[in-house]
Amino acid sequence: MRKNIVAGNWKMNKNLTESQALITEIRGIVRDENTNKAEIIICPTYLALASASKLLDGSTVKLGAQNCHFEDNGAFTGELSASMLKSVGVSHVIVGHSERRQYFNETNEMLAKKASAAINQGLTVLFCVGETQSERESGDHFNVIKNQISEGLFHLTPKDMELIVIAYEPVWAIGTGLTASSDQAEEVHAYIRSLISEKFGETIADHTSILYGGSVKPDNAVELFSRTNIDGGLIGGAALKARDFFDIIKAIK
Ligand code: PEP
Repeated sequence: MRKNIVAGNWKMNKNLTESQALITEIRGIVRDENTNKAEIIICPTYLALASASKLLDGSTVKLGAQNCHFEDNGAFTGELSASMLKSVGVSHVIVGHSERRQYFNETNEMLAKKASAAINQGLTVLFCVGETQSERESGDHFNVIKNQISEGLFHLTPKDMELIVIAYEPVWAIGTGLTASSDQAEEVHAYIRSLISEKFGETIADHTSILYGGSVKPDNAVELFSRTNIDGGLIGGAALKARDFFDIIKAIK
């Protein structure tokens, strides 16, 4: 069956010293209290990845990056490739976060290439999709999600799909304190699974973890994670406090 996963997206937060302190704290709590019910991933800034990899040596906590370029190397000032991430011990990478789509103009076409580049390096992709508030209000959210999934992922092979985790993150719920109700989230998660099933078949759809992201906190995680098609969460703000992050992990039953 598919895995339960809780991933923390630290965004552009924490300098090196602060990152090391938070990683050490998370590592300690996971070692002492781990429930083993979920795979745990943390995604600090690029700055902290190499040192995070050393700090996580021997821990069950996995290391993710927040982005990668689709080329392997070359004249792309300021960018990092999937192979570079792999070389410092990264196993996961977020692709298509709404902030990258919105502020860095990342298109479905670019994200499709990024997903392939990461998979070619054996990295697991946390592929983000989600509608804006106006898209939801106009009832267009299913279409938006369908385009993001089909243009971003449908070029992949069934084998590639083993390295895909999908995160449904309604843009209106990210960092706003507004969470999708568990009914709203479950409805979209079930829809995403049906899209994967139509394209790749029921077995692959059944094995694909689909995470919810958008203002997940310890007090709403239990309800969200109890739903059939919600296999964990991608956590922003609450992942910056070790205790809150772990309390969210514990909401996986
Ligand atoms: C995110 O950025 O992926 C996210 C879900 O953020 P937050 O939990 O803060 O809404």
